[in-house]
Amino acid sequence: MNPDRRVALVTGSGRGIGRAIALEMANLGHRVAVNYRSSSSAAESLVAEIESLGGSAVAFKADVSSAPEVERLFSETEAAMGPVDILVNNAGITRDGLIMRMKDPDWEDVIRTNLLSVFLTTRQAVRNMARSRWGRIVNISSVIGIIGNAGQANYAAAKAGVIGLTKSTAKEFGSRGITVNAVAPGFIETDMTAVLDEKVRSQMVQQIPVGRPGRPEDVAAVVRFLVSEEASYVTGQVIAVDGGMTMA
Ligand code: NAP
Repeated sequence: MNPDRRVALVTGSGRGIGRAIALEMANLGHRVAVNYRSSSSAAESLVAEIESLGGSAVAFKADVSSAPEVERLFSETEAAMGPVDILVNNAGITRDGLIMRMKDPDWEDVIRTNLLSVFLTTRQAVRNMARSRWGRIVNISSVIGIIGNAGQANYAAAKAGVIGLTKSTAKEFGSRGITVNAVAPGFIETDMTAVLDEKVRSQMVQQIPVGRPGRPEDVAAVVRFLVSEEASYVTGQVIAVDGGMTMA
């Protein structure tokens, strides 16, 4: 197989961080499966952008929190582009609230979308990756999964769960040429953080040694390294992309 031209599936890649990662995968010469749940026009315009740059991409609608939809996503991707070699689990949501006021659906939706989805896609992807003895899985966690946050118990639990899942998958599949790593972004400017008011935003920026919020491209640059051949000896790691906001 030409190592420069793999099939890369990026979940939730119509907009935000996922979009930047999908563009980075296309820049590397990979064929990109753009997954979206609702923003079809954003996904289609990303596909058009990748094609206009000489790349290859197809958009697939699927809710990654649903097992049958994930199965369909993988079979449609394989039929259109071939088996998935690179999986980037990026899709995510927030439903913030203090624990005493948090409704069951707010807990469940976040756990299903941000954690169950990673298990469902991983289970599908490792079948082919193990067979071909090559694979890259990058899970987008969050610094909140490491340090926790008042008002985000559901999100922090899901993102911490992603880290445990990442390390376990890395141990199960390390001998098959599959690396599995997590990236933990800090405060990145996307639709997800656009809802924060100016006061919260400037308080957060004050806690960032680099002195600015992150850009989706900052996250995509680290994913670019983790999916490369050069990263074959890096697995089970959690790499914070947070301008130094959290340090171990
Ligand atoms: P965003 O701008 O809100 O985009 C979220 C993406 O996830 C959208 O493309 C959305 O697709 C997709 N998505 C949501 N639920 C889905 C589902 N059930 N099935 C398929 N796709 C789904 O968020 P973002 O800031 O780019 O965040 C991307 C990832 O980074 C998330 O996992 C988030 O938790 C993580 N993260 C973000 C930050 C930050 O500061 N922004 C920090 C740490 C971690 P549709 O538009 O089609 O619904």
